[in-house]
Amino acid sequence: MAAHPRFGPAGIPPLFKVLGARLPDVPRLLREENLDAFEYQAVRWGQKPQMKQEDAESLGAQARKNDVLLSLHGSYYVNLCGKKEVVEASKRRLVACAAAANWMGAYVVVFHMGFYGRLERSYAFKTCVNALKDTVATMKSLGIQNVKLGPETMGKVFQVGSLDEILTICEEAEQTQLVIDWSHLHARRQGLFRKVGDFRAIVEEVERRLGTEAARKMHCHFSKIEYTERGERRHHVLDEARYGPDFEMLVEVIAEFNMRPVIICETPLLDVDAVKMRDICRKIMEKQGASVS
Ligand SMILES: [Zn+2]
Repeated sequence: MAAHPRFGPAGIPPLFKVLGARLPDVPRLLREENLDAFEYQAVRWGQKPQMKQEDAESLGAQARKNDVLLSLHGSYYVNLCGKKEVVEASKRRLVACAAAANWMGAYVVVFHMGFYGRLERSYAFKTCVNALKDTVATMKSLGIQNVKLGPETMGKVFQVGSLDEILTICEEAEQTQLVIDWSHLHARRQGLFRKVGDFRAIVEEVERRLGTEAARKMHCHFSKIEYTERGERRHHVLDEARYGPDFEMLVEVIAEFNMRPVIICETPLLDVDAVKMRDICRKIMEKQGASVS
């Protein structure tokens, strides 16, 4: 696991595609930009892996060679608290994602838990926890032990995924990895992050519930974000001053707690903004005397 904060894009940067890069070329191209994480997007996958095992393995080999840590963003078509057949299909989609993650050596499958729908919130949440435990049991029976499931904090109020829910699920289910999407928290809670202390409060809460190691090694998504009263509306680039959250404030807290997160950039500029984030992080950490390598 990362001994320093890692940065990378959510998906293949558009310029790489223009250059004609194939999937196994991506880690080397990221390394040339001094980036060291990559979140493969399996977001439209069904119930079977939609890539060949050999392609996943060659991506994995190149990632290890270039010291790029892989994660995989699981299918959007997952709802762990819908009707029974929806939940069963969702579990199979997650297992398919976990199988491919295992081939490529990705350490976590990030996913969205689902929608409350008409269900009462605490009942919906319980259904999610049980479905997640079943999924982990299936992964274990298939010998998938090195991949964690990463439920993500969600940006819309009708989605399962408040901070408390994500922490509870990480407490209750094995083989889980905390995924904090800072922008989603900001949007879900109507502009939560206004000062450094607002970021610090989240890290302290994580530390209290899951321990220091979990707080130091959280998997993060970051983007500027626009929201309405219902939550997340649109992602924006890092330089968009009109929207929060403020990345510098987050870095203050990363340095203060000596954190080693993986930070996946989800702005429309992907790798370009990931490089900006990394540079901001280095500058602030060096100023604070924290180690950066
Ligand atoms: Zn996501």
